Amino acid sequence: MSDKLVMAVNAGSSSLKYKLYRLEGLEVVCGGLVDRIGHEDGIFKLTYNGETTKEVLPIMDHHKGVDLILNALTSKGIVKDKNDIVAIGHRVVQGGKYFSKSALFDADTEKKIADLTPLDPLHAPAHLMGYHAFKEAIPGAVAIAVFDTAYHQTMEEEDYLFPIPYELSEKYDCRRYGAHGTSHRYLAEKALATYLKDKKDTKIITCHLGSGSSLAAIHNGKVVATSMGLTPLGGVMMGTRSGDLDPSVSYYLAEQMHLSNQEVYDLLNKKSGFLGVTGLSNDTRDVEGGYLKGDKRCIIASHLFARRVADYIGQYFVRLGGVDLIIFSAGIGENSAFYRKLVLDRVKDALHIVIDEKKNEEAFGGKEELISAPESAVKVAVIPTDEEKMIASDAVKAYEGKL
Ligand code: AMP
Repeated sequence: MSDKLVMAVNAGSSSLKYKLYRLEGLEVVCGGLVDRIGHEDGIFKLTYNGETTKEVLPIMDHHKGVDLILNALTSKGIVKDKNDIVAIGHRVVQGGKYFSKSALFDADTEKKIADLTPLDPLHAPAHLMGYHAFKEAIPGAVAIAVFDTAYHQTMEEEDYLFPIPYELSEKYDCRRYGAHGTSHRYLAEKALATYLKDKKDTKIITCHLGSGSSLAAIHNGKVVATSMGLTPLGGVMMGTRSGDLDPSVSYYLAEQMHLSNQEVYDLLNKKSGFLGVTGLSNDTRDVEGGYLKGDKRCIIASHLFARRVADYIGQYFVRLGGVDLIIFSAGIGENSAFYRKLVLDRVKDALHIVIDEKKNEEAFGGKEELISAPESAVKVAVIPTDEEKMIASDAVKAYEGKL
């Protein structure tokens, strides 16, 4: 077997997640996290052969983080030579109008990502830092950028445009981009290969429901609509994000509370959603617990969430002119029979969905499962997502010159 390896990298401003795969067959070798970058008490974690090691040490920048990873891989004998890592895929949140698929990470891609910083001030500089740190450490590896927005670029103008003055949409590239595209693509590809392989005209609704949540309507493998907007704040209610609102909520709260734009934006991004409505937690495990004990705000938060997800499913059912398969994925979608049921109870009559309750209960912890009964008019599946694998797979394609 070849010793060649591929790495998937997700660099944030103070963290860097990594996962290493064998190029052949994309078997996972190891993975981990560099956290608290920029701090004296930085954290370096590595999981290999089911065992996780953790070190606390100064990690002042991304270069130091990458050195730690590569030194650990070679010193522990996981990798013979760092140059065996022949391809690196970097997750990039915002690809704007420029990228409709993954791209070689060259000077042009770098400039475009830098130009897109106003649309994603938090992540864009961090992605570039991650890229440079790896490029310096392994200059020979093929590097690619895999964009969260790229898969949604097939949307048409009537699906991505906001009804604001047209010149402003154009001048500021202010439009719907969506997010979680790598996950939606993974789920759609998996579903097409597994559940719909003999069907010609395919209609899928993917529900990526985690701490951030988004849905996509996918016709013949191409996105026609998605719920997140200019940024990941739009769409359904999330852990700490409000999702869609009447835009005057921002104005009204700013006036009433004497808040700046930034402060309102933070309120809607970090203090709303499940956290804001329950006043308890952004984690649906806690909220479900509260619900079952009869906590009023946990009950209303759960219903708000389910209603919003159900409304998008209804909207996308109409948008697609029907649906063959609804997919649940990510932290909530993969693990919570309770929230899946709350959502499905709100769409099942209109869509003639019949759920196999036992299968729904059994689907958690990374299990793939068809949870609809054979007589259901629409199939419903739980499919664990794997964005890293998708990133690694694109990196392999780039290495083989097939991107
Ligand atoms: P993600 O962003 O996809 O990693 O999802 C993380 C979120 O999934 C957590 O914040 C929880 O809200 C939710 N979650 C994870 N496990 C469960 C579970 N067993 N039941 C309900 N929600 C869960």
